[in-house]
Amino acid sequence: MPEASSATRLPAVPGAARQASLRAHNLALVLQALVEGGPESRAALARRLGLTKSTVSALVEQLAAAGVVTDDVAPTPPTPAPGRPASPVALAAGGPVALGIEIAVDGLAGCVVDLAGALRATERVATDNRSGPPRERLAQAGALAARLAARATAEGGAPVGAGIAFPGIVDAAGVARRAPNLPGWAPCDLPALLARLSGLGTLVWRAGNEANLAALGEQRAGAGRGQADFVLVSGEVGIGAGLVLGGRLVTGPTGAAGELGHVCVAPDGPLCGCGARGCVEQYAGLEALQRAGGVSGRAALLSAAGRRDAAVLAALERAGRALGVACAALVNVVDVPVIVLGGLYRELASVLSAPLCEELGRRALRGQYAPVRVVASELGEDAAMRGAAGLVLDEVVRDPVAFLPELGR
Ligand SMILES: [Zn+2]
Repeated sequence: MPEASSATRLPAVPGAARQASLRAHNLALVLQALVEGGPESRAALARRLGLTKSTVSALVEQLAAAGVVTDDVAPTPPTPAPGRPASPVALAAGGPVALGIEIAVDGLAGCVVDLAGALRATERVATDNRSGPPRERLAQAGALAARLAARATAEGGAPVGAGIAFPGIVDAAGVARRAPNLPGWAPCDLPALLARLSGLGTLVWRAGNEANLAALGEQRAGAGRGQADFVLVSGEVGIGAGLVLGGRLVTGPTGAAGELGHVCVAPDGPLCGCGARGCVEQYAGLEALQRAGGVSGRAALLSAAGRRDAAVLAALERAGRALGVACAALVNVVDVPVIVLGGLYRELASVLSAPLCEELGRRALRGQYAPVRVVASELGEDAAMRGAAGLVLDEVVRDPVAFLPELGR
């Protein structure tokens, strides 16, 4: 049996299975090229992928029949010469979309994202997820997902899956294992419950930690673009970190990597919701900041910071130092060159950055020859839900045949 070409070499499998597997692999290659590179002619795709033009044309035809791509777009730049211009192949407007659902401590949010990474719709619902039975809040999240799926379908998109961002430790199967800021929620099989409560059981459901997914969101479309190594530090009631090393999100074997909020900065400090003392969350979490600054609520904190209220500035200075101590420990262990400030910290970056960078400069060893850059998140409050949708969309691009039954025929 002849070997596959170098661009499409796959492990040896017999006959028909090998053909089907090769075709699935090549469909993924074409889709990935269009997602990453934008519209392109069949000839250019063939050159880029090392496939023949007739193979690429056949693959494009299958993707077009499944509604994933179209060549009904104007060539760019327009070809002035007479004759038939090569019409570029592009992602179709009615192609697959994914839902991103975020369960935060103080609200629910959801979005629809397409294969090109464009945000098609968003919706937010203010809820206090620490009050009332988790089941009722999950039902609200399910109803939010159902509304977004209906809206996406009405606007011509085809929902294929949904990702859930959760503020706690989430394992590889999507089960929430521990949630210090949402007592009573863990353990909880988030994908199974939301699939049922939303009535969207035919979709593929995934779940992850909110800071991890915010890092994925920033990597796809925000401050992490083009960065192989960075950490996103997201502050709200809890503090989480999403660690990207060598281009890949590091979650750890149980999903507990990046729990920066529970790194100790003072062994005899205040008691934390996790049961330990002196966690960074007790200095830099939203509730610690409100207590220390003498304000009530996120909006009041931001407004007091804006008018340079002395008590709030002092609380932020202390928070910045605590974050700097914890981030320096992280940098000394994994050597990341960029820290992206997300969530509440994005709004407070102009005040937090100075004390944070001072502690980093003092404590992170690489600071003397390669200082760590501290930048603000670009996606802000959308980062985690966009990353959650991205988790599913990445799977679609890796294996389109698994998500689009039309392609399997
Ligand atoms: Zn703690």
